Amino acid sequence: MRKITIIGAGQSGLLMGIGLRKKGYDVTIITNKTGDEIYNGGILSSQAMFGAALDIERDFGTDFWEDECPKIDGISLTVAAPDGTKAIDWAARLTTGHANSIDQRVKMPLWMNEFERLGGKLVIDEVTIDSLEIIAAECDLVMVASGKGDIGKMFERDAEKSAFDKPMRALGLTYVRNMTARTEYSTVGFNIIPGVGEYFSFPALTTTGTCDIMVFEGIPGGEMDCWGGVSSPEQHLDMSKNILEKYLPWEADRCTEIELTDDNGILAGRFPPTIRKPVGRLPSGQIILGIADSICLNDPITGQGSNNATKSTKIYFDSIINHADKDFDSAWMQQTFDEFWAYAKYVVEWTNAFLLPPQDHVLQILGAAGQHPETAQKIVDGFNDPRDFFPWFMDADAAAEYLKKIAQP
Ligand SMILES: Cc1cc2nc3c(=O)[nH]c(=O)nc-3n(C[C@H](O)[C@H](O)[C@H](O)COP(=O)(O)OP(=O)(O)OC[C@H]3O[C@@H](n4cnc5c(N)ncnc54)[C@H](O)[C@@H]3O)c2cc1C
Repeated sequence: MRKITIIGAGQSGLLMGIGLRKKGYDVTIITNKTGDEIYNGGILSSQAMFGAALDIERDFGTDFWEDECPKIDGISLTVAAPDGTKAIDWAARLTTGHANSIDQRVKMPLWMNEFERLGGKLVIDEVTIDSLEIIAAECDLVMVASGKGDIGKMFERDAEKSAFDKPMRALGLTYVRNMTARTEYSTVGFNIIPGVGEYFSFPALTTTGTCDIMVFEGIPGGEMDCWGGVSSPEQHLDMSKNILEKYLPWEADRCTEIELTDDNGILAGRFPPTIRKPVGRLPSGQIILGIADSICLNDPITGQGSNNATKSTKIYFDSIINHADKDFDSAWMQQTFDEFWAYAKYVVEWTNAFLLPPQDHVLQILGAAGQHPETAQKIVDGFNDPRDFFPWFMDADAAAEYLKKIAQP
């Protein structure tokens, strides 16, 4: 039986562990937090996932919250004008299946139980380079699924693929109840405040039941880069409301009655989006493979991280199965990553474009979508598979051609 060890029990590590156990592999997951610690700890993400990634979870038999978790039926987009009105405002339903968001504090502990129920070995430990040497010597393949954990820094940063070397947004998350629902259908309600940042919210499932998640993306040094002096959950909630009152009054109107789901329902931080080389070489020369955020870390602005982690898991999983009894050598590792990168490069380029001041053609397309429902539809469904934004949305010439075409009667 092939022996595989995974570092990290998050979106990719647990999905992979469960999938491989179901195929009879001898799998160990080593992770640094127990299920109880995760459940009772701070929020980790806003983790909205779209149809294609949810389908992978269904295929792996890990979609335990399908009925309980509120469905997100579409995406709405608003661009705030300087005078406090809406310069652009439209919405469209997802035609690629609903999206949803299950608090990782709920999801990961249950997936850990499922992994163990299937015969997987779960070890709680902080993995270091030294322990990786021992682990790698004992198994056929080690995958590092450590997300933003420091151990991932052992993979060399890929300067060619990494567009930024510093954080591009100051992030804030607030989990609340009592937000007024949108009147039509539920959406990821995406708001752009030019020069200041972005805000989006959507319904989700958390430890205390259903909730709404507020995501703040402040341009560093700007007015939404404001979490530094916040020192209590109450202040965090007040700051969240203040931002909306100042820049997005239509969103503030939905939030007059909000309260935190729990004192751990807040998060503030920042990190540089970074792509790393997938094959890590330990001091002894042994090699290990990076997966998901450990080697492909995006800003959450387009809500793709958990989606990417899931899609990379599926690609790596298939590659492991297809490799049967052959050596997991560096050529196989690189080829497995390259297959993922053939998809992920589009996600990264599209996501990075949102972190820079929007180009004229992007604003024109976002504006045109208000009058042209098919364009709104194309944009909304692109969140499910960002390859669909190329080239008509991403390339200025292709965008001009597209806009000309839709302007014709
Ligand atoms: C503010 C914010 C909002 C987000 N919103 C969204 C969104 O709406 N949609 C979306 O798709 N994505 C979103 N993401 C991203 C998403 O959460 C991640 O991309 C996803 O969880 C990555 O999965 P992963 O398996 O790579 O790592 P993770 O899920 O982060 O798991 C990593 C695991 O490794 C463990 N670990 C780390 N270091 C060690 C070590 N040394 N030893 C042992 N264990 C270790 C950790 O404890 C954890 O269990 C968001 C992220 C943030 C920060």
